[in-house]
Amino acid sequence: MARTDAIVLGAGIVGVSIALHLAKRGLSVTLVDRAGVGEQTSYGNAGIIEGNTIFPPAFPSDPGALLRIAFKRASEANYHLSFLPRIVPWLMAFRAASQPERLVETARLIRPLFARAVAEHEALMAEAGATHYMRKTGWLKVYRDKKTFAALGPEFDLAVKFGLPLKALKTSDALTLEPSLNPVFAQAVFWPQAASVSNPLGVTRAYVARFTALGGVTVVGDARSLHRAGNRWRVETNEGAVDAAQCVVALGPWASDLLNRLGVKLPLAVKRGYHRHFRAQGNAGLSRPVLDADAGYLITPMEQGIRITTGAEFAARDAKSTPVQFDRLMPKVHELFPLGARTDDKTWLGSRPCFPDSRPVIGRAPALTGLWLAIGHAHWGLTLGPATGRMIAEMITGETPFCDPQPYGVERFA
Ligand SMILES: Cc1cc2nc3c(=O)[nH]c(=O)nc-3n(C[C@H](O)[C@H](O)[C@H](O)COP(=O)(O)OP(=O)(O)OC[C@H]3O[C@@H](n4cnc5c(N)ncnc54)[C@H](O)[C@@H]3O)c2cc1C
Repeated sequence: MARTDAIVLGAGIVGVSIALHLAKRGLSVTLVDRAGVGEQTSYGNAGIIEGNTIFPPAFPSDPGALLRIAFKRASEANYHLSFLPRIVPWLMAFRAASQPERLVETARLIRPLFARAVAEHEALMAEAGATHYMRKTGWLKVYRDKKTFAALGPEFDLAVKFGLPLKALKTSDALTLEPSLNPVFAQAVFWPQAASVSNPLGVTRAYVARFTALGGVTVVGDARSLHRAGNRWRVETNEGAVDAAQCVVALGPWASDLLNRLGVKLPLAVKRGYHRHFRAQGNAGLSRPVLDADAGYLITPMEQGIRITTGAEFAARDAKSTPVQFDRLMPKVHELFPLGARTDDKTWLGSRPCFPDSRPVIGRAPALTGLWLAIGHAHWGLTLGPATGRMIAEMITGETPFCDPQPYGVERFA
C-alpha cells in the first residue's frame, strides 16, 4: 500500500490541472484514471479558452426556438424522448436559473474565476512547454438573424461593466478577419480576449508530463473503489492501494457514480455534444473558432482539421450515440464555410457535466473530511481547468484562494 499526500480522481483537464498545482506546491500526488489521460470529455471539445464568458448558455426563452427543439427540427439541441421524465426536474431548475436577473447574478459570480482563465493556462503552458498550442486570436460569433444580434444588449452592457472589450462588426469587417467565410450572416461580434488551443488533448498531456517531471504519479484505477481507511481515503489501483489524507474528485460527467455511493447527492446532469472533423476546400482556412449563433454549432481549426462541435443533447450519459444534429446543421455549415471531405470515420460523443445554475462545484464535499470536489464545469471545463486547479490547491494547502470560493460551494444546493 502506497501513502501519498493527495489523491486526484479523474485525469481530464480539471484533474490534471489540480494534480499539477498540488505537485507545484510540494505535495506528493497520485492521479488516478481508468482510461488514458485527457481522452474523455477533455479530448473532444471546441478548444476555446473563454475568459470572456458573461452569460452561461440559457434555457430558450423564445417559444419558436422551444417548438423547433420539441419537434426535433433545431440544430442547436436534441433530446431523447424516453429520457425527458428523468431530466425534467433538472430542466425546471435550469429554466429558473435562466431568468434574466439570475443570469446577471451568475455572470457576476463566475467573473472572478473566468477572469483568470487565460492567464492560468498561459502560466501552465509556459512551464509545460505547451505554448505552441495557444492561439490568442479571439473568438468570432456570427448572427444570421438581426433579431438575435439585437437581443445582445444586456450582454454588451455587462461586458462594458466588466471591462471586456468586444467589437460589433458588419459582415464585411468580419470577412476581413476570416476571409474564407461566406457572407450568409447579418452581423458578427469579435471577442478579442478569448483564446483557443489547436489540440486540447495535447495540452492535457503536456500538463501531465510536467506533473510527472515534478514527481507526480499517474496510475490506472477505478475511482468507485474509494473508501475510508481510518482517517484517510483509500483507492484501489492496478499498482495496489493508495492512501491519502486529501482526495479530490474530478471525474467530470462520471462524478455521481462515486458520489452517490458516498451519500453525496448533487443535481449534476449532462449536456451531450458531438464532433466531426473535415478538411477545408483548397486554401480555405480559419484563424479562430467561429460560432454560427442562430444555428448553434461551432467550427474550430484544430491540428486534426476543421472540428465541428454541436450544442446540447439531453439524453442519458451512457445512451447510444444519436448524432442527428449533424443532419440538421451540415447544410448551414456548407453555407458558411467551404468544407472539404470528412477526415474521421466516427462521430465523437462527449458529455458536459452541468449543474442547473451553470456554476461548477469547487470546494469541500459536505461532511466528508479531506474530500474535495471539482466538478460540473459544463461548457467551460477546458477554460477553467487551470484556474480550478489553482483554487483547489490553494484551499488544500491553506493559502488564500485567488478569488472567493463561496459561489462554487455545494452549500448552495442545501
Ligand atoms: C462538444 C463539446 C464542446 C466543448 N467545447 C468546450 C470549449 O470550447 N471550451 C471549454 O472550456 N470547454 C468545452 N467543453 C466542455 C469541456 O470539454 C468539459 O467541461 C471538460 O472537458 C470537463 O473536464 P473534466 O476534467 O471535468 O472531465 P473529463 O475530461 O471527462 O475527465 C474525467 C475523467 O474521469 C475519468 N473517470 C470517469 N470515471 C472513472 C472511474 N470510475 N475511475 C477512474 N476514472 C474515471 C475519465 O476516464 C476521465 O478521464 C465542451 C464539451 C463538449 C462535449
